[in-house]
Amino acid sequence: MTAQQKIGKFLLSLTDIDREALSLTNRKREIEETRRQLQTELEQVEQSLAKTEKEVEQCEQIRKEREHSLEDEESKIVERRKQLTAMGGAKAAKMMEREIEIASRALQNLEQSAGEATTQSEMTQKKFDALREKVEQLREAVSNHEEQVGAIADLEKGLDGLVQERNSVRGKLDERLVKIYDRVTMRYPGDAVAIVKGGACRSCYRSLPFQLHNQLNAGNNHLQCPGCSRMLVVGES
Ligand SMILES: [Zn+2]
Repeated sequence: MTAQQKIGKFLLSLTDIDREALSLTNRKREIEETRRQLQTELEQVEQSLAKTEKEVEQCEQIRKEREHSLEDEESKIVERRKQLTAMGGAKAAKMMEREIEIASRALQNLEQSAGEATTQSEMTQKKFDALREKVEQLREAVSNHEEQVGAIADLEKGLDGLVQERNSVRGKLDERLVKIYDRVTMRYPGDAVAIVKGGACRSCYRSLPFQLHNQLNAGNNHLQCPGCSRMLVVGES
């Protein structure tokens, strides 16, 4: 193997390492992002659930109060009717008629307001049930995701190994080459090196000018593709 071929191999293995590291880093980021999203959503829904639980209590309180008012009014009317019946006579009958009319109007209002309170109470309870179900679903999702969160340690171990490998390969390349490599990597993370085959760059398929091809064949390792700027490595024919 010529010195140029060796350097070409190092550059290609460096891109392999960087590509692998990039994929591990992205995987790790994805897992962390998903966990963050799930936890944020769970916290929000738990807060809504706690708030709705209070609302349910308040609505139930109001419903009971109105129910009692209604019962009170009903028993008052029964009592009054008894009194007036006991009194007897035309005057009492007239009074009863009028009082019953007023009382039945009051009763109607109370019934309506008790009915509204019941509806409100039922709606709030439904909202609470739906939120509780959502909380359970999210807790399960968080717990299911824990397995992937557990894999983060392995991903980090893999990354540590790749950093060591990367340093070892970089140590075998001259400083100028590493500088070019890093600059191209900024543009093409994990894909900074292109193979030349049949006189063309295999990354962007641009045909290389004759002179560049000659320089490459003469052993120059610092050349970049005029089409895509990737570092050029002569492919095995
Ligand atoms: Zn190219």
